[in-house]
Amino acid sequence: MAEFDVDLFVIGGGSGGVRAARIAAGHGARVMVAEEYRMGGTCVIRGCVPKKLLVLGSHVRHEIADAAGFGWTIASANFDWPTLIANKDREIARLEAAYTVNVEKSGARIVKSRAVFENAHRLRLGTGETVSAKHVLIATGGAPNHGRMIPGIEHVISSNEAFHLPELPRRIVIQGGGYIALEFACIFAGFGSDVTVVYRGDNILRGFDDDVRAHLRSAMEKQGITILTGCTVEKVDRHGNEYTSHLSNGSSIASEKVMFAIGRHPNVANLGLEKADVAINPNNGGIAVNEYSQTSVPNIYAIGDVTHRVNLTPVAIREGHAFADTVFGKRDIKVDHADIPTAVFSQPEVGTVGLTEAQARARSSHVDIYKTSLRPMKATLSGRDTRVVMNLVVDGLSDCVVGCHIVGDDAAEIIQAVAIAVKMKATKADFDATIALHPTAAEELVTMRTPAARHLRQAAE
Ligand SMILES: Cc1cc2nc3c(=O)[nH]c(=O)nc-3n(C[C@H](O)[C@H](O)[C@H](O)COP(=O)(O)OP(=O)(O)OC[C@H]3O[C@@H](n4cnc5c(N)ncnc54)[C@H](O)[C@@H]3O)c2cc1C
Repeated sequence: MAEFDVDLFVIGGGSGGVRAARIAAGHGARVMVAEEYRMGGTCVIRGCVPKKLLVLGSHVRHEIADAAGFGWTIASANFDWPTLIANKDREIARLEAAYTVNVEKSGARIVKSRAVFENAHRLRLGTGETVSAKHVLIATGGAPNHGRMIPGIEHVISSNEAFHLPELPRRIVIQGGGYIALEFACIFAGFGSDVTVVYRGDNILRGFDDDVRAHLRSAMEKQGITILTGCTVEKVDRHGNEYTSHLSNGSSIASEKVMFAIGRHPNVANLGLEKADVAINPNNGGIAVNEYSQTSVPNIYAIGDVTHRVNLTPVAIREGHAFADTVFGKRDIKVDHADIPTAVFSQPEVGTVGLTEAQARARSSHVDIYKTSLRPMKATLSGRDTRVVMNLVVDGLSDCVVGCHIVGDDAAEIIQAVAIAVKMKATKADFDATIALHPTAAEELVTMRTPAARHLRQAAE
């Protein structure tokens, strides 16, 4: 008889857990996956996928507005939020079913239940039944974090609820300056809501390149989104179906919804981690792991958002795959977290990879910045007041392009391809040697010849 019920017990059927389960099963492991909510996890059920569907929906408003310059007359355009939400929910249900089938096809078994540790090798399910496992993978993801317990916090929604609102709010206050807050601000504004963003920092998108931050802010403001920085929501009052947000600057805003997107915390609570002796990383509150995603307990691993390293779906998937290959496929694989491309699906979109100007200057004594700002061709006929901004950050010592930052249509699509070049350590000379593809906005990436700024630092004496 086998010593353990399964070779691998995965807690969480999200992006990372599902990939790890399928790959481990493919290597011949006996795998069980516990999922307490819906297969597919945050990305599929209440993250990237439904978010992008709403982004695409809200973008139609811009397409309709732009059409006149191209000769189109669109007599009337009406938007119905419940139709979009129902269609989105149907697609999410289809994806959830596909995730379930794919895991089962791989030979792994799914249990629809919460799972918690009894000890390092034993898990307890919601039914009270226990399962013993040789290895355990914690892939429990993260959840919205509302921050301080301000008065009226119970009236505040997160992105989870925003996906299921029965009606489109005519006015909404969104607290947060990160990508989720800004994406929802643009989604609601696109559908015609009056949106106010409240953010405690001095500018939105902390950690992004300063040119990106400045340009996106002004582009969002031009669309009518109000962005209040340097203040916070201190209290929320309810009056029937209306809310008043009281801000730290003394002002107040009336709205039909108040949403917070001010951060997410790793799902580590009530997992029984103490019974298994799994350590938490004191710096970020996630599960502490080494470069193989192994926790403080040798047979227990953790991947994805629960480790609070880089909270993105493709990262969770890569970590899950690397874990399964290393532990069950006899291949020694570490995940390289450098130069991960990322996007903000705001309107306009942001795509970015590598170092910001400030980060590059902190690392190198010679940094060249190439910049362009252009009116996209479409805007010449549509009349839309918009510009595309692109920056290349070049390490002047090696000539390597160490960062690229784009704001404009299709920035996410463009940056995925640029990320290959950055990852391969392409030089500015390699970019220059590439012939432009005309007429595109992206051709600017290979035609910027003169640095807009050169930062030289004297070696320390
Ligand atoms: C609004 C929003 C938009 C996003 N947009 C993007 C984007 O555009 N691009 C991108 O790359 N990333 C995006 N993300 C981030 C992305 O969704 C996450 O990084 C990714 O889902 C992490 O995968 P994971 O496997 O670590 O965890 P998750 O996908 O969160 O999966 C964890 C699963 O574990 C389950 N679970 C938790 N505890 C237990 C337990 N004890 N027992 C059983 N099951 C349990 C949960 O129900 C969940 O299904 C977005 C996130 C949000 C919230």
